[in-house]
Amino acid sequence: MRDRLCGLLRTFYARGWVSGTGGGICARLTDRELLLAPSAVPKEQVRPRDFFVVDARDGRVLRRPSDRALRPSECNAVFRAVMARREAGSVVHSHALSAVLAGDLADPDGRLSIAGFEMLKGLRGGSNREVHRVPVLENTSEESELAAGVGRALSLPEFEAAHCVLVRDHGAYIWGRDVTETTRHAEVYHFLFDGVVGRRSLRGVNR
Ligand SMILES: [Zn+2]
Repeated sequence: MRDRLCGLLRTFYARGWVSGTGGGICARLTDRELLLAPSAVPKEQVRPRDFFVVDARDGRVLRRPSDRALRPSECNAVFRAVMARREAGSVVHSHALSAVLAGDLADPDGRLSIAGFEMLKGLRGGSNREVHRVPVLENTSEESELAAGVGRALSLPEFEAAHCVLVRDHGAYIWGRDVTETTRHAEVYHFLFDGVVGRRSLRGVNR
């Protein structure tokens, strides 16, 4: 699992989703334990031995890497807020520019509505005939402060079908039942972010 997560971080770096040490990833190791990437290091350079093992319920570090300079990801609390409310085996945190720009398209109630893309079928339960709604939160000064807002948004019925939370000026958290589904959802959502931003700018040009 550690090798797989490192491979994904390199792929996500190449796509511009986790550049500048930003972003993160976690995956369930057991029911009680999560593998968590370290904070503030280039994500494409994370090695299998650099992962923390944290308690899935309270985020306590259970096993730390031998490199004592490493700190657990700032995403710890947000990842657990997602896993507490969704059947998620893995969560990815993206700092992609497309996610930031898509967050700018949120309505005043803090939701992004996406429709009219075949790629919506790539989301579990997704359909190209329905409007897909994603919650968009305001950013906070510390990443851990986002956890309460993520929990509140994911308890709203209108976001039942969402596998993603956007944070304005910051990025996205995307999850799936396991690492394979999380990767697919990450690819689909980044396509959709590009899609909604591209369509909006074309509309501006054609006006
Ligand atoms: Zn972040």
